[in-house]
Amino acid sequence: MTVAPHLILTVDYELFGDGSGRPGACVLEPAYRMMRLAECVDASLTFFVEALEFIALSEQERDHRARDQLRAALQGGHDVQLHLHPQWSKAESDAQGAWRLDMKRWRIGDLLEEDVRQLLRKGRFWLENEIAAHVAGYRCLAFRAGGWCIQPSEKVIAALLAEGFELDSTVAPGQWRAGRGEWSDFRAAPSLPSWRVTGDVCQPSGSGLWEVPIAVGNIGWRRHLAVLLHGKKQKNAGLAPGCIGSYRGPEQSRVEHIRARMVRLRQLGEVMLDFSTMPADVLIDVSRQWLSRFSTIDEPLPLVAIAHTKNFSASSERNLKIFLAWAKSSGLQFSTYEQWLETTHG
Ligand SMILES: [Zn+2]
Repeated sequence: MTVAPHLILTVDYELFGDGSGRPGACVLEPAYRMMRLAECVDASLTFFVEALEFIALSEQERDHRARDQLRAALQGGHDVQLHLHPQWSKAESDAQGAWRLDMKRWRIGDLLEEDVRQLLRKGRFWLENEIAAHVAGYRCLAFRAGGWCIQPSEKVIAALLAEGFELDSTVAPGQWRAGRGEWSDFRAAPSLPSWRVTGDVCQPSGSGLWEVPIAVGNIGWRRHLAVLLHGKKQKNAGLAPGCIGSYRGPEQSRVEHIRARMVRLRQLGEVMLDFSTMPADVLIDVSRQWLSRFSTIDEPLPLVAIAHTKNFSASSERNLKIFLAWAKSSGLQFSTYEQWLETTHG
């Protein structure tokens, strides 16, 4: 490998999928702590902002704190790109301030193409006009589907291309989830650090949208189980300090629920490069696996890490600090999707 790999640190910036959680403890405060740590090593974070919920918060609750934080983040050198959970598209808050979401619209892959295009336009318009209006040269070019539910991907990819997006970063190669309302299946993803797609997100094509997958690795089932159990034992069950919420997903039968759990159990050991849930030694191990897997590629290698604000706990903070120091001392360059695109295909 002759060119320094690009470490792209992404953060899904959002409340819980059923609308629970408070913006302060579950989004703003953890995002602030992540940025302070990243800035110590001159790293940029890429926030995948679930725009629909912050539009709803701004319009219905007059809560503009996320908008203000993201504006400052962008001006301070971090990046902001689009993430969508369609269940938020017609969200309404009730008298107690709880959100009523359309949980039947959990999977963007199940929507009509025109519906997807309309949501992409709405989200991007908000990012470009409310967040980035005064930032010269800003481009909303990257997308990640909520809950990894991009499939069947033909309509979503067509909509992204039609709306001028350049890149998707949803795929976690080799991983899959069951359940009618929340399935995804990336077992057919190619063994490549990036590829282009025109329809099936797992099928490389000569042109089209860039797919830049989330880095994954295998740490063995025992180690993975130990990480999961340690998370459960932690204060606040591994969530950000003060953040309370529910991982309730779309409705499913008891059989579907059991099957979904079995599918997850079968994948014990397979993990994403997730700096909100994985300890530092795992983050370093998974990064090394990814880099060595593609060590013969002579182009800047993207190494995409993921995190969620809502589970950025006190121990995530300690782990991220160690991981960033390792990345810096190992010669990785902290990057964004746009910087990677420019150096690779500019
Ligand atoms: Zn999400």
